Amino acid sequence: MNLLEVKDLSVTFDTDERTVGVLDNVCIDVKPGETLGIVGESGCGKSVTSLSIMRLLPQPAGKITNGSVFFDGQDLLSLSKEDMRTIRGRKIAMIFQEPMTALNPVQRVGVQMMESLKLHRSDMSKEEQRQECEKLLDRVGIPEPRLRLTEYPHQLSGGMRQRVMIAMALLHVPDILIADEPTTALDVTIQAQILELIAELQKQSGMSVIFITHDLAVIAEISDRVVVMYAGRVVEQAKIKDLFENPRHPYTRGLLGSIPTLDGTPKTPLSTIPGMVPSFADMPSGCRFRNRCDYAQERCKTEVPALKETGDSHAVACHYWQHVAQSTST
Ligand code: SF4
Repeated sequence: MNLLEVKDLSVTFDTDERTVGVLDNVCIDVKPGETLGIVGESGCGKSVTSLSIMRLLPQPAGKITNGSVFFDGQDLLSLSKEDMRTIRGRKIAMIFQEPMTALNPVQRVGVQMMESLKLHRSDMSKEEQRQECEKLLDRVGIPEPRLRLTEYPHQLSGGMRQRVMIAMALLHVPDILIADEPTTALDVTIQAQILELIAELQKQSGMSVIFITHDLAVIAEISDRVVVMYAGRVVEQAKIKDLFENPRHPYTRGLLGSIPTLDGTPKTPLSTIPGMVPSFADMPSGCRFRNRCDYAQERCKTEVPALKETGDSHAVACHYWQHVAQSTST
């Protein structure tokens, strides 16, 4: 039984010149209590997928043109704005890449946190609310939490603002936490601390987590399953161990070639996959990875590879995945 089911989701964006397709029939599901990693280079549609789930696509440019998003049996795309607001934050919370999108610059941190807490915990006294906020700030590694509650977001460093936002998203312990590159700007120690906190809260509460990142090493650390996205499509989906041991899509192979090795060899950039992600305004026909793919054949120019189950809950969108899998294991 899935807690979240995204089916055949397609999204377009209006630009000055034309309408471009950004997501193309994306399918993702999340089970209760699991951590799903979504990975891919920037511009692959990871963030647009999460904004679509939250119904927070930039308006009026972004439009969902096809598909459905079911959460706990409810179709989120047909809910009223009012009903969606009650789901957002309480049931599905999101940590953004850029903290200032979630923080109000003219309100003290404590006021913002306590207002959010008050909405769902009216049984708490003001002092209890303050203590709860302090406790959470402390858990995300913010020193002198009582003092921070009296400050405005601009008085905090970028890393601290990021942690305040993470603390705010965790105030209500949602059913699903969507974390969009939440630790990218933080140093490694704080990053490890935040990942640990999320894992601990998940263990206590049973919440599900969707963790979006370009960093497969982070995904490997925290995810149960992984979805690999490329140019607005899901190209591979598998359990974490299976993906690392038996990658079946040439793009996944390329990503795996760019993570650090256990002997400490420095991380090489993702651009080690030759070429660039195509722009949404100029997508190649057929398989969107074909201009960067060593395995491409004539057929890849015209036929879109469908995402197909290949056994053991491992799905891949490549006409020649068997050939890729064979060459990976040799
Ligand atoms: Fe490469 Fe063709 Fe597979 Fe696309 S479908 S990944 S171009 S082999």
